[in-house]
Amino acid sequence: MDTPGSGTLYIVSTPIGNLEDMTMRGVRILGEVSLIAAEDTRHTAILLKQYAIKTHMQAYHDHNKEKVTPLLIRRLSGGDSLAVVSDAGTPGISDPAFYLVREAVRHDIRVIPVPGPSAALACLVVSGLPTDRFVFEGFLPVKKGRRTRLESLKEEQRTIIIYESPHRILRTLTDLREILGDRQVCVGREITKKFEEMIRGSLSWAIDCLSRDRVRGEFVITLQGSVKEKRKTP
Ligand code: SAM
Repeated sequence: MDTPGSGTLYIVSTPIGNLEDMTMRGVRILGEVSLIAAEDTRHTAILLKQYAIKTHMQAYHDHNKEKVTPLLIRRLSGGDSLAVVSDAGTPGISDPAFYLVREAVRHDIRVIPVPGPSAALACLVVSGLPTDRFVFEGFLPVKKGRRTRLESLKEEQRTIIIYESPHRILRTLTDLREILGDRQVCVGREITKKFEEMIRGSLSWAIDCLSRDRVRGEFVITLQGSVKEKRKTP
C-alpha cells in the first residue's frame, strides 16, 4: 500500500516548530520518494539533515506553482512517487499544496496523506473552547472583503480558527472585538517552540497582553463562537 514507485503523491505533514514532532512514517516516505516538492528548500533542508534524508528537493511555492505543477504531474504519471511538504504543518492548509493535489486528483493520480501536526488543531485542542464543532477561516483578507468576512462570522456559533502574522495580529484582534464583541479567545503563539505561549481570556485581555512588547512569532487565534442568548421565560 505504502510502497513508493507506483506514481503516488504523498502529502507529508512536518513539525510546526519542534523537530521531534515528525512522524516515523513521514521520515520513511521522505527518504523513499524520488523527489520532495518543498515550499522553502532551505527550510526543509534542516529537517532532512536532522533525519539524514538525502532525497532531492524541488522548490514548490506560490510564485512557481503554475510552472512546476505540470512537471511534477508528468513525473507522477510516469510512475515516480513524490512527496510534498510545506514550511510547517500539514501541506494544503493555507499553503500552495492544494493546487498540486487538485491537479493530481484531476489526473487520477493516487494521493496519500501522511498526517501529522497542524497549527490550527494544535491551538484548538488546548484552547479550552468547544472542539466538537469548529470552522477554519485561514488568513482573513487584508483589505478587500475584510469587513464582509468579519461580518459573516458574527452569527457563527462554532469555534472559529484564524491564522495571523505578527504584524497584523493586534489589528485583527481589535477588528474581531469591534465587530464580533469582546468574546473569549485563545491566542496560540509559537506553538511547540521555545517561546510557546497561550493567551486565554477576553479579546481585550489578549490585546492588552500583546500590546506590552514588540509582537513577534507565529499566531493562531481560536475564538469563541456566537452564544445565542437564552430567552427568559416570562
Ligand atoms: N500548513 C500549516 C499548518 O498546517 O498549520 C500552516 C501554513 S500557514 C502558511 C502559516 C501560518 O500557520 C502562520 O502564519 C501561523 O498563523 C500558523 N502557524 C504555523 N506554525 C505555527 C506555530 N508554531 N505557532 C503558531 N502558529 C503557527
